[in-house]
Amino acid sequence: MAQAEIGLIGLGVMGSNLALNIAEKGNKIAVFNRTVARTKEFYEEAGDLKGQIVPCETIEEFVAAIRPPRPIIIMIQAGAAVDQQMDLLRPYLEKNDIMIDAGNANFRDTMRRFDALKDSGLTFIGMGVSGGEEGARHGPSIMVGGTEDSWKRVEKVLTSIAAKYNDDPCVAWLGENGAGHFVKTIHNGIEYADMQMIAEIYGILRDGLKMSAAEIGEVFGQWNKGRLESYLIEITEKVLAAKDPIAGGPMVDMILDKAGQKGTGKWSAIEAQNMGVPATGIEAAVAARSISSFKAEREAAEKILGLPDVPALSVADKAAFIKDLESALLAGKIGAYAQGFAVMAAASKEYNWNLPMPTIAKIWRAGCIIRSQFLDEITSAFTKAPDAANLIVTPAFATMVKDTDAALRRVVSAAALHGLPVPALASALGYFDSYRRGRGTANVIQAQRDFFGAHGFDRLDGADSHHGPWGSGLNG
Ligand code: NAP
Repeated sequence: MAQAEIGLIGLGVMGSNLALNIAEKGNKIAVFNRTVARTKEFYEEAGDLKGQIVPCETIEEFVAAIRPPRPIIIMIQAGAAVDQQMDLLRPYLEKNDIMIDAGNANFRDTMRRFDALKDSGLTFIGMGVSGGEEGARHGPSIMVGGTEDSWKRVEKVLTSIAAKYNDDPCVAWLGENGAGHFVKTIHNGIEYADMQMIAEIYGILRDGLKMSAAEIGEVFGQWNKGRLESYLIEITEKVLAAKDPIAGGPMVDMILDKAGQKGTGKWSAIEAQNMGVPATGIEAAVAARSISSFKAEREAAEKILGLPDVPALSVADKAAFIKDLESALLAGKIGAYAQGFAVMAAASKEYNWNLPMPTIAKIWRAGCIIRSQFLDEITSAFTKAPDAANLIVTPAFATMVKDTDAALRRVVSAAALHGLPVPALASALGYFDSYRRGRGTANVIQAQRDFFGAHGFDRLDGADSHHGPWGSGLNG
């Protein structure tokens, strides 16, 4: 039997779908899973694709089934499991074989693994895969990190399985070592912010305008035909329309309002902080999920504090207010993406990745969870202004920020006045207002720091005075 051109370890949700996608695109693939029963089950369910799949029960058998130099995708639980699996695999590998970690690894682990294999003759690729189960099966967005040479060796097969946006494959080599996993992490952070802001708008419509799930679903359906057109808006319309099979009412009304936060969302916020680049939308989204998880505490607090003692939201022109909500959501989205791209720009410098921003936006246009036509606009903005300090100062996005500014202000202030929580949307407004103001207020902070610590400060006029008058002992 001819050898497989690629191997895949880990037949869980993502791995099994990715393996079927690889097989369907005409690539012969060897597969292995720690629990052998799963390999058998997967093979039995592969239907017409069985001929392209070589199921293997042992690592020896698996490695022997792949034509050298072997590209091997590892799609298992992130963290220690990947190190264990790589250790088990290594003794059977030969020079030039490539291990590709396709899980949601922390990019720091990817850097470490990459370094550990550097002089071994083996190659390591850290590859972010987005799009969930559906994407893995029919075309994910793929973010590759590793040497350019190793990318060239897997480019053909990855291009064959990636999502396509107007025939453009949503896969690219983004840089050395941890570049792919870093970009995937920020992708997920942006996804957190996007989802949180949609939930905040839903909250205003539900608790402010007292609209039913079905009515709110229709609003999202309308928005999906305009500037906000995206997968997340599309599925929000669908989930709001879904009926609960047990109670009969809207499904969303029966779902517990508790969301977890771990892994990539949290890492995005941490890495942004590490680099001193604000990602307030992502941070607000991670924090909002944390607060959501304190369900019992929130219920107890509501009994003690009550809801804010403010008048209920009433709007004179409901249609105009809903238009404002649409613009506010677009503004918030611009803020979250601008921040995500700024974090990637800082990381690119710090780790010498030379991340191609227009390409990143391009490969997110299809296949992944945050896919949208908006990403096409980001691609175009960064292509025209590759050295822009921030997305929001590129001509197209500066215009969008100005156009949506008043609506974002009206929505955030209405929410504040009527006790409706909008932490991520409010963070976007704070970000825009701070970023666009040439003269800020950190002069007071610098003066305070000088007072209590005699650190000194730089003068606005450039004159050579580095301490305030209190430096002589007034500060004790
Ligand atoms: P999953 O369905 O829970 O499957 C986990 C897989 O990992 C199984 O094949 C399991 O093998 C294997 N595994 C666990 N511990 C192992 C170990 N110590 N050694 C060897 N194999 C081990 O997970 P998944 O959703 O496919 O996720 C896989 C990776 O993709 C994760 O890094 C995840 O974060 C990432 N990811 C997931 C999604 C998504 O939407 N699900 C999207 C993008 C990325 P057994 O059958 O033997 O237990």
